[in-house]
Amino acid sequence: ANFADYRFTDFLNKALTKINFQKPTPVQEKVIPLVQTGRDLIVQAQTGSGKTHAYLLPLLDELTDAQQVQLVITAPSRELAYQIRNDTEQLLANQPSTLRVGLYVGGTDKQKQVNSLKNKQPQIVIGTPGRVWDLVRSHDLLVYQTKYFVIDEADMTLDLGFLKDVDLIAGSMPEKLQTMVFSATIPPKLQPFLKKYLHNPKVEKL
Ligand code: AMP
Repeated sequence: ANFADYRFTDFLNKALTKINFQKPTPVQEKVIPLVQTGRDLIVQAQTGSGKTHAYLLPLLDELTDAQQVQLVITAPSRELAYQIRNDTEQLLANQPSTLRVGLYVGGTDKQKQVNSLKNKQPQIVIGTPGRVWDLVRSHDLLVYQTKYFVIDEADMTLDLGFLKDVDLIAGSMPEKLQTMVFSATIPPKLQPFLKKYLHNPKVEKL
C-alpha cells in the first residue's frame, strides 16, 4: 500500500512528506483502513511498529474546527503521552484549521490547565488516565461530545492500576463512540473493560 491510497487531507500528506515517511508500516496497512470504517478496534501491536501513526493519521483526518473535545488518547506514562503529543503536533504542522492539542499528565500545574480550559476546550486530548479523569470529574474537561477514544498501551495501563480511571473517563463519553484499544498483549484481566465499552470490535493481532 501507499499513503496516497488513504485519501488523507492534503495537510497530512504534506506532513508525511516532510517527516519522510515513504510508505505505511505493516501495522499501518492493516489498521488505517479499519479506523476509517468507524469500527471499535482491539489491536495487538508492539511499540516500534508504527502504531501511533496508525491511529493518528486517520483520526486527525476526521476532526473539525468545532471547539469541543473530539479525540481523547490515554497513555500509561508521561513519556508516551509526550511522544504522542509530539507526533500529533508534527502531523498538524501544516493544518489549514486550528486544531489544538491539550496535554494532561501528572506532575504538571493543574490550575493552569483548569484556567485554560475555562477559556477554550481543545479538539484533541492526550494524557495519562489519572490527570484526564481528574479534569473530567471536576467538569473542567468536557468530553461529552467525544467521537474517538484511543487507549494506548492498555496492558501497561492495567498493570499500573490506571484502568479504573480509563473506565470512568469512558463512562463520561457518549454512547456513540469509536473506541480503539492498542496493546502489546491482551491479558484476560482486560476483558471486562473490553466487554463493557467495545461494541462488536474487530480484533487484529499483528
Ligand atoms: P511507534 O510504534 O508508533 O512508537 O513508532 C515507531 C517509530 O517509527 C517512530 O519513531 C515513528 O516516527 C516511526 N514511523 C512510524 N510510521 C512510519 C513510517 N510509515 N515510515 C517510517 N517511519 C515510521
